Amino acid sequence: MQDFRPIDLLNATHERGSIVLVRADLNVPLDEAGNLRDATRLARLLPTLETLSLAGMRVGILSHFGRPRGMPDKALSLAPVATALGQLMNTPIAFCDDCIGPTAASALTDLPEGGICVLENTRFHAGEETDDAEFAAALAALAHAYVNDAFSAAHRAHASTHALAKTLPAYCGHAMQAELTALNSALGNPARPLVAVVGGAKISTKLELIGNLSRKVDTLIIGGGMANTFLAAQGVEIGTSLCETGMLDTARAIIAEAAANGCRILLPCDGVVAPEFAAGQTGTCVDIAHVADNQMILDAGPQAVKDICNAFDEAQTLIWNGPLGAFEIEPFDAATTAAARHAAARTKAGQLKSVAGGGDTVAALNHAGVAEDFSYVSTAGGAFLEWLEGKQLPGVEALAAN
Ligand code: AMP
Repeated sequence: MQDFRPIDLLNATHERGSIVLVRADLNVPLDEAGNLRDATRLARLLPTLETLSLAGMRVGILSHFGRPRGMPDKALSLAPVATALGQLMNTPIAFCDDCIGPTAASALTDLPEGGICVLENTRFHAGEETDDAEFAAALAALAHAYVNDAFSAAHRAHASTHALAKTLPAYCGHAMQAELTALNSALGNPARPLVAVVGGAKISTKLELIGNLSRKVDTLIIGGGMANTFLAAQGVEIGTSLCETGMLDTARAIIAEAAANGCRILLPCDGVVAPEFAAGQTGTCVDIAHVADNQMILDAGPQAVKDICNAFDEAQTLIWNGPLGAFEIEPFDAATTAAARHAAARTKAGQLKSVAGGGDTVAALNHAGVAEDFSYVSTAGGAFLEWLEGKQLPGVEALAAN
């Protein structure tokens, strides 16, 4: 893993009262009244904010919020998020209606030592998304140092995640460090055997991810709708199941490449079927060779779950992305929930390192009630998926000490 300058070094290098810009991810869900719907992302920021504040730094928080297309849009102001952050931290948080220029400069210099101010949505300026050097210079002019604590925005080369990190002395926030450490222990330098679960709807959206994982993991468990395409590619009759018929050759190529790499691919040997994906259905368990023409596979079956749990029992490290079935509707959540609980139990017993993330995965683990029991659950979405694909993330690269 690359070397990153930690916040402790910032505190040791910069005197009290210095102005520090923290790139955070305040792009959090709000309800219509502007109240926070989920505090997970904000809660993860607190260690960095508290460390800097305790060291007497004046902290300006930078973040995007929604997609304002390079101009101000009141509906996408960060003001309500600043209020929510203040409530979470139990301390007043200032807000400034611009992130550059004289207003932002005085908002930051006027802060007491240890004070925190949320600066308005960086995407109100067109230079943010174009990684513009002039916009980055205007941000840099406000501060003495920069901290990136937004792994979830690190897949984008934007001014506040990339150009700015090259303009000011740049440091790695606690949440960013925790994410990088967890991801490195799962895919960079994992304890083996290493097992990955890739589930979800379609292969087409996860091709690069499956390709990268099949080169790195010992066992690749394929579940959810995408397993149907792999089964169909092997000549299994899958009735009316979700299937990408244009991807059958791709699925066969993935199987061949995995075999060449010594990666075992585990597909479900049974499934839970129903006539349609709708509430109130009764699922029927069938062997994968006996799916009727008018039925669709909506979940992995009990023997498939046993196979998956056995693979977990043999593993030292687990990476999980995507549900094993259509988990939003009962009873098709059963396989995802059972397998997630098994992984969580082994993790709690100290027998497994488990790292999960990406869109629906967090929802599925919350649904199973085990998100807290995994070693690490990434809320980073796109950045987590790009990392699983093996891509370099510009925000992380820019932060690396050189
Ligand atoms: P993704 O966004 O690609 O991770 O896919 C998640 C979605 O896949 C969820 O909404 C699930 O309901 C859906 N899904 C999982 N398994 C199946 C299946 N066997 N048939 C249809 N949809 C599925």
